[in-house]
Amino acid sequence: MQYRTNPKNGEKISALAFGCMRFNKDEKEVERQIRYAMEQGVNYFDTAYIYPNSEATLGRILAKDGMRQKVNIATKLPHNNVRKYGDLDRIFGTQLERLQTDHIDYYLIHMLGNVRSWKRLTELGIEKWIDEKKTSGTIRNLGFSFHGPQNEFLALLEEYDWDFCMIQYNYCDENNQAGTAGLERAGEKGIPVMIMEPLRGGTLANPKTSIRAIWEQADVKRSPAEWGFRWVLNHPQVLTVLSGMNQMGQIEENVRTFSDAEAGSLTEVELEVYAKVKAEIQRSMKVPCTGCGYCMPCPKGVDIPSSFSALNDAASRGRIMSKAMYIMTTGGNSASQCIKCGKCQTHCPQSIPIPEKLEQVKKELEGITYKPMRYFIRRFFGV
Ligand code: SF4
Ligand code: SF4
Repeated sequence: MQYRTNPKNGEKISALAFGCMRFNKDEKEVERQIRYAMEQGVNYFDTAYIYPNSEATLGRILAKDGMRQKVNIATKLPHNNVRKYGDLDRIFGTQLERLQTDHIDYYLIHMLGNVRSWKRLTELGIEKWIDEKKTSGTIRNLGFSFHGPQNEFLALLEEYDWDFCMIQYNYCDENNQAGTAGLERAGEKGIPVMIMEPLRGGTLANPKTSIRAIWEQADVKRSPAEWGFRWVLNHPQVLTVLSGMNQMGQIEENVRTFSDAEAGSLTEVELEVYAKVKAEIQRSMKVPCTGCGYCMPCPKGVDIPSSFSALNDAASRGRIMSKAMYIMTTGGNSASQCIKCGKCQTHCPQSIPIPEKLEQVKKELEGITYKPMRYFIRRFFGV
C-alpha cells in the first residue's frame, strides 16, 4: 500500500480509504473485507452519522481483536441537525457509542456547503466545542466535507484553521464544485485533501462503449476504474481517496492500483488519453448527475436520479430504448409529475437546476408515445 504523509501532523495515511456508505448486506462479509483491507495496509475508514447502520457496523467489527487501535476513523456531523449547543454533544455521544470508541481521528462537518452555514454553527458555539474536544483528545483532527460552488469553498478555507477537508474530485470535475482551483488553494495552505466521488458515483467505472474503446486503445491496459483512480492520485495535494467498497474483487483491484499510483506519475501520453475521454464524455452528457440521491424523496414521487440517468444515456441507447429504460428505471414516476416546488433543489451537491432539467427529460423522453409505452411495459414487465 502507498502511504501519504499528512502535512499537518506527519501521520502516514493509506492512499486508499475504505468508504463505508454502502457496506455489503452480509456483516460477516463486511468483516472479511475490512480485515483483508487492513492486512493490505488500509488504515482510514470513512463513515457518517447519516449512513444507514454504517457507524454501528463499523464499530462492532473494529471492536474485535484490537482492530480499532490500528486504524483512523473518520465520521461526520450532520450539521443541519444541530439547533442548539447541546445537540453537538448529543450527536457526537451517539457516534462514539455506535463506533465503540472514545475518540474520532478525523471528524468532518458533513456537506458544509457555504460560509452562511458555518457562521450559523459558530453562533451556536461550535468553535468552543471543537476546542474542548481537541483538548480532551476525543476529536484529533477537524475538517469539513464539501459539495457546493467553488467560491464558497475558497471562502470556507479562510474561515477556520482546518486540519483537513474532503471534496468531490475526478477527471470530469476539474471545474465543478471545489475543482482544481480549490484543491490547489487547500494545498497552498497546507490543508490535506481527502477525495470523495473519485469515479463520480461509479459512472466513470462503467462507461459507454465509445469511452471504453478509448481506454482500450491506450498503450497501457487498465480498467476504467483504475484510470479514474490514477488521475486523482496524480495530484500531490491528495492525502487519501475514498472508495465505497463492498465486493472483495473491487478491494483486491483497488489495493493493486493504490500501491503504486504515486503523485505526478502519469505521463504526457497518458494525460492525452484522459483528454480524449473527457471530450467524449462532455459531448454526450446532458446532466452532470452522479445519482447520489440527496434530492430524494420528491413529494410528487418523481424519481430524479433515474430520470437524469435515462437522459444522459439517451445519446448512446437510441430513442426507443432510452424511453423504455426511462419508464422501467423510474417505475413510471415521470418528470412531468414535477410541480417545480424547488424542495429538491437545495440538496443537490452538483447544483443542477433540477426542475429545469426535468423539463428537458419530459421533452426528450415523454411525448405522445410515453403513455402507450408505459402501458405496454407495465403490462409485460409489471413495472
Ligand atoms: S421541484 Fe419537482 S422534482 Fe423537485 S421536489 Fe419539487 S416536484 Fe419534486
Ligand atoms: S440531481 Fe443532484 S442530488 Fe439528485 S441524484 Fe443527481 S446529483 Fe444527486
